[in-house]
Amino acid sequence: MGELARIKRNGLCHGCGACATAVGGDKIKMSMTSAGYLRPEEQQPLATADEEIVQKVCSGAELQHLPSTEVSYDRSWGPIVSLETGFSTDADVRYLGSSGGVISAIAIHLLETRAVDFILHTSADPNDPVGNITRPSTTRAEIIEAAGSRYAPSAPLADLEAYLSRERTFAFIGKPCDVAALRRMARSDPRIDRLIPFKISFFCAGVPSRKGALAVVEKLGVEQNELVKFSYRGRGWPGWTRATRRDGSEEKMDYNSSWGYILSPRVQFRCKICPDGTGEFADITCADAWYSEDGYPDFTERDGRSLIMARTPSGRALLDTIRQAGALSCESLPIADIRKMQPHQYNRKRAVFVRLLAMRFKAFSTPKYRGLSLLALALQSSPVWLLRNFLGTYLRLRKSESL
Ligand SMILES: Cc1cc2nc3c(=O)[nH]c(=O)nc-3n(C[C@H](O)[C@H](O)[C@H](O)COP(=O)(O)OP(=O)(O)OC[C@H]3O[C@@H](n4cnc5c(N)ncnc54)[C@H](O)[C@@H]3O)c2cc1C
Repeated sequence: MGELARIKRNGLCHGCGACATAVGGDKIKMSMTSAGYLRPEEQQPLATADEEIVQKVCSGAELQHLPSTEVSYDRSWGPIVSLETGFSTDADVRYLGSSGGVISAIAIHLLETRAVDFILHTSADPNDPVGNITRPSTTRAEIIEAAGSRYAPSAPLADLEAYLSRERTFAFIGKPCDVAALRRMARSDPRIDRLIPFKISFFCAGVPSRKGALAVVEKLGVEQNELVKFSYRGRGWPGWTRATRRDGSEEKMDYNSSWGYILSPRVQFRCKICPDGTGEFADITCADAWYSEDGYPDFTERDGRSLIMARTPSGRALLDTIRQAGALSCESLPIADIRKMQPHQYNRKRAVFVRLLAMRFKAFSTPKYRGLSLLALALQSSPVWLLRNFLGTYLRLRKSESL
């Protein structure tokens, strides 16, 4: 079996599209599966050299941190150069962004100071309101239009060649797996580090099936052929999920009901064994800086607040410049407080080791993870909790649809 087929068959693909760019769009195209996930489809049999390229760039099959003396590595949260909470001082950006609008504020700053020519990121598909497209944005208005998390499949690396070949500089915003794949691609394509000086990500609990969004639309009582706009979040924090009909009428659902009960149960399998839900390979990663109540995040609507982490010295330098320009308002955050804001991320990384063991027991091949402290984290966890995680994965692997 070829490498691409092995990756897909074992549930290791997260659908970023890196392989399509690396091997060529004439050989691999991304398409939506019947289960509602984006997956690479071979357009012709791949040569051995192509399969080797797939193996080199795929962050679903392999993730590795090289030892660094420059940046300290926190086992739970990865490389940390600076850690803050904050928000965009532009009230519209803060309101329209998912959390505190910090990623959009960074993007706007990069464009307005001409540090890059465009931002490559994800936005709603104008022809498919629940779907996503990858697009280059060059203005504040375009950045704002694309603000807000979209909890549905996106493949922002699938057409990367078209943007690299422009020979213009740009910042890339994507999920942790997208950025990790971009770093892997950079090892054999020097244009990536030359043209993309900033790689920005966010914490990610996983990519839900497209069917999740359609289930939300149905629950809201909106006919699919009447739907013209669908936003998963934003307009406040966390912001409501909103479906707009052709006649302008709108139905909405709170974040806890849409993400907690409909979208998150439909997250693809690969995300359950992801040790990098926090964007460890990015220059800057952002997240929801939830206030917590009784140890759990509190989703009461309020003004947005982001967790902001620089992971590289260049990420930190960029944040310093933006703060000095007055576009971000920030306060420092102790590392121990991240756990209160992001308990899911804290637990998932600890569970990955035994979830991989469960895969092995079911004769699945597993991703190669190195330098991510997974065994050390598992050893800090309760044996009963680990056993529950092992069994959960073992049983889940009987259902192949989510792969
Ligand atoms: C699938 C998914 C899971 C997430 N899980 C978590 C989590 O567990 N914990 C947490 O704290 N935060 C999570 N987030 C991120 C969070 O919702 C915010 O995006 C993050 O806090 C940044 O907020 P912001 O206001 O700075 O971003 P904004 O200013 O709103 O900018 C968001 C940026 O993300 C890009 N984007 C949106 N959707 C996608 C997508 N599907 N693929 C690639 N890029 C996209 C947009 O293009 C935009 O540039 C998740 C986001 C997604 C898309």
